[in-house]
Amino acid sequence: MRAASVNDIVTNGLCTGCGACESIASCEVLRMGLSPEGFMRPSLTGELSHETEERVLAVCTGRAMPHPPEADGPVHRMFGRILHMGRGHATDPEIRFRGATGGVLTALATFLIDCERVDGILQIGTASGNPMENEARFNTTREEVLACSGSRYGPAAPLRIVGKLLDEGRRFAFIGKPCDVAALRRMALTDPRIDRQVPYMLAMFCGGSPSIDATHNVVRRFGVDPSEVTEFRYRGHGWPGPTFVRTEDGRQFSQTYDETWYSGLRYELMFRCKICVDGISEHADVVAGDCWVMENGKPSHREAGDGWNIHIARTKRGVDLIQEAIAACYLHEEAFSVAELEAMHDDHALKKRSVFWRLMGLAVTRSPRPRYPGHRVVRAGLLEASPREAFAAFTGVISRLLKGRNHESPITAQSGAGSGQ
Ligand SMILES: Cc1cc2nc3c(=O)[nH]c(=O)nc-3n(C[C@H](O)[C@H](O)[C@H](O)COP(=O)(O)OP(=O)(O)OC[C@H]3O[C@@H](n4cnc5c(N)ncnc54)[C@H](O)[C@@H]3O)c2cc1C
Repeated sequence: MRAASVNDIVTNGLCTGCGACESIASCEVLRMGLSPEGFMRPSLTGELSHETEERVLAVCTGRAMPHPPEADGPVHRMFGRILHMGRGHATDPEIRFRGATGGVLTALATFLIDCERVDGILQIGTASGNPMENEARFNTTREEVLACSGSRYGPAAPLRIVGKLLDEGRRFAFIGKPCDVAALRRMALTDPRIDRQVPYMLAMFCGGSPSIDATHNVVRRFGVDPSEVTEFRYRGHGWPGPTFVRTEDGRQFSQTYDETWYSGLRYELMFRCKICVDGISEHADVVAGDCWVMENGKPSHREAGDGWNIHIARTKRGVDLIQEAIAACYLHEEAFSVAELEAMHDDHALKKRSVFWRLMGLAVTRSPRPRYPGHRVVRAGLLEASPREAFAAFTGVISRLLKGRNHESPITAQSGAGSGQ
C-alpha cells in the first residue's frame, strides 16, 4: 500500500522532512516548519491542487526511493557501490577542528568554491535567531561554509530552497543527509536543471534524525531553559567534540558525545528513520562518515584528538573530486579497507539487514510504506539477517504501529506553523 497524498505521507510517519515538496509546490502553497511532534513538516499556506500534489508525490522519498541507476564498479552487498574509499581529513587544521569529524565535507565544499566549479553550497546551518534550530543556507565563501560545519542532530529541511536557487540560475553543490540527496536525485528526474546546475551531491552517514526535543532536553539537563541559549553545538571542535551550550548571561556547559546520546536522553527519532534503507548515501557522489577509533573490536566515541573521516566515492565524478581535492592539498587520504568499514559501521549493515522485515511489518498491518527498488532489500533481509535480527525488526515495527507511534499530526494551515527555517 502506498501513501496517496502528502497528508498520508506525513500522518503515517513517512516524511523525511527534506523540504523538496516546498520547492516543487512553492512556499505560497506548502511551507516547512516545526510540527507539533518537533519534526520539519509541510503545512498548507495556500491551495494544493491535484496536479501539484501529483508532482510532489512523484518525487517524495516517503513514497518511493529507487536506487540510482547502475554504473560500473563493485557494489558491496551492504554498503553499496564503492568506486573509491579512504580515511582522511581536511588539511586545513581549522576545518578539521571545527568539522563534525575530520572536516572532509567542508574541505570538499571549500575546494569547489575556491576553484569556481560552483557558485556556492546549499547546506544546513544554525537558524538565524535560534541557535538550536537549523535553516537551509546558500553559502558562497569559505567562512560561511565553515560556519555551517558540524553535525546538527535535529530537524532540517535543506531542499526547501533548491527551487529558488534553480530559478535564480545558480550552480551549486549540495550537502545533506542520505535521504535529502536521494530526494534531490529524484527531483532531477523531472527537473533537468538539477543535472546542469547541481554538479555535486555530498552526504554524511546518518543513523537517524531526532525531533527538536533532543536538543531541548540536552539544554534542560544543564538546568537551562531553551529560550536562554545563544550558542549550541552537538559536536565538532574536537572529535567527536563536546556538546556545547552557551547562555545569554555567559554560562557555558558541555558534555561528551556519549553523555549526550547514551545516558537516557529523551527524544523521538523519526519513524521514517526506523524504516530507512540507506544511511550511507548510495545516491551521493561522495559520502563521509566517522572513522571511529576501534576498541575491543567496537567503535569508541571517546575524545580522540584530531578527527578522521571515512569517505566513499559512489560516482566517477565523486572519485575525480576526491583526487582533485587531494592534489590541491585540501584533503589528506590514507588507505581504508572494506573489512574495516564492515567492522566499524555494522550499525548501517544492520539497518540494511532489517529493513525488509520492517517493511513486512508495515505490509501485514496494511500500513502505507515506501518502495525501495534496487536497494537489495529482499536479499539483505532473507540471506543476511539472522533470525534474531529479523524477529526484532519485524516485531519492533509492529509494536510501534499498534501503539500508533508512527502517527503524526495531519498537515493543516496551522500545524507546522511553529518556527520555520
Ligand atoms: C542526523 C545525523 C546523523 C548522523 N549519523 C551518523 C552515523 O550514523 N554514523 C556516522 O559515522 N556519522 C554520523 N553522523 C555524523 C557524520 O558522520 C559526519 O557529519 C560526517 O562524518 C561528516 O563529517 P565532516 O567532518 O566531513 O563534516 P563537516 O565538514 O563538519 O560537514 C558537515 C556537513 O553536514 C551538514 N549537516 C549537518 N547537519 C545536517 C543535517 N541535520 N541535515 C543536513 N545536513 C547537515 C552541514 O551543513 C555540513 O555541510 C551523523 C550526522 C547527522 C547530522
